[in-house]
Amino acid sequence: MTFKPANNIQDLQYFGEFGGVNPSISDSSTYTFLSAKTMFDTFEGNADGCYLYSRHSSPSNLYLGEALAAMEGTETANVTASGMGAITSVLLQLCGSEDHIVSSRTIYGGTYAFMKNFMPRFNISTSFIDITDLNAVEAAITKHTKVIYCESVSNPLLEVADIKSLSQLAKKHNLKLVVDNTFSPLSIAPKTLGADVVIHSLTKFINGSSDTVGGVVCGTQDFINDLRNVNNGAAMLLGPTMDSLRAASILKNLRTLHIRMQQHSKNALFLARKFEANGLKTVYPGLESHPSHELFKSMMNETYGFGGMLTIDVGNLDTANALMELMQHKNLGYLAVSLGFYKTLFSAPGTSTSSEIPIEEQQKMGLSNGLIRFSIGLDADIERTYSIMRKCMEELGVLQPSMV
Ligand SMILES: *Cc1c(COP(=O)(O)O)cnc(C)c1O
Repeated sequence: MTFKPANNIQDLQYFGEFGGVNPSISDSSTYTFLSAKTMFDTFEGNADGCYLYSRHSSPSNLYLGEALAAMEGTETANVTASGMGAITSVLLQLCGSEDHIVSSRTIYGGTYAFMKNFMPRFNISTSFIDITDLNAVEAAITKHTKVIYCESVSNPLLEVADIKSLSQLAKKHNLKLVVDNTFSPLSIAPKTLGADVVIHSLTKFINGSSDTVGGVVCGTQDFINDLRNVNNGAAMLLGPTMDSLRAASILKNLRTLHIRMQQHSKNALFLARKFEANGLKTVYPGLESHPSHELFKSMMNETYGFGGMLTIDVGNLDTANALMELMQHKNLGYLAVSLGFYKTLFSAPGTSTSSEIPIEEQQKMGLSNGLIRFSIGLDADIERTYSIMRKCMEELGVLQPSMV
């Protein structure tokens, strides 16, 4: 039986200290102790439930972390100021000098740049491979490898990782499988498929209102304790701490995630089917033509669908740019990076969010410059949206006018 994480959202129960239906927001950077001994014990990590200093933890951040851990089915979680704050702390916690990472080559541009350009400063190297080729993954593992890293659904090509098989490989070679689940919250629960650490950029679907950046690391209590360790924890020492006010506001937005994901997925599936029927090169995991459609189905919680992300390829960058400008002009959405907003967002990944990846590598992985990435919005009338989009495409010659 598949674990159904979202069914827990309405069960989460945190009260404010005066019985408020929302927990009170913690508004302190530091905390008093009744005795000096307790302060010492807290530094030693021996005083559960005591707060010390808000870079370490705060009540609001713990509430949000616990809610996200319940969603992902992990023991606990640590929230961070951004998705990159979560990713960089996890990788630096798990890897030291001479260690090696086997990573999917189709990942978020910032993650790619961190592994490729920044981690070598610490003498940590990364092999970028096609994550859908399990033989290639295993062949890339060396005696220095510590981590297999992937995104459940990759950015921007929407490749799907076989998390169960990757976790078997990780166990066989005694590695940690770290999965960025930003594109598929609720639809896929990587922990239940064997992932050791699950990361999200909360900036995207989970917060869903494009008003903040945020991140989370979901994992075992031991691993989260390591991250927060005052002597050698990356989350404590690098300082990627989320502000309490933000944690409180993201927790409130999280409560509607299950409804939003259903609408994002429903709208995206509708448009993907139409675009494909129109003869456009369309990539969406919910289409039978997607190479990993069956794999996604085998991992998913059906209630939440195949997610809100799709891509089309309109042949070249000039057409892609003209189409995005026209769609924005018609108020169909915004020409903007990021995802998970109530409005549709579109961008050309080759020149924006994946521009950190060198052109030759973009070509090798199939990232063409006519590609447009869509984060489909919460539109109430998606047929109307489609008919306006279609007119934009006809105007630019992307589609031939329909015969009526
Ligand atoms: C946006 C994004 C990130 C980075 O998150 P920030 O909150 O912008 O730091 C990481 N992974 C994926 C898949 C993303 O889409």
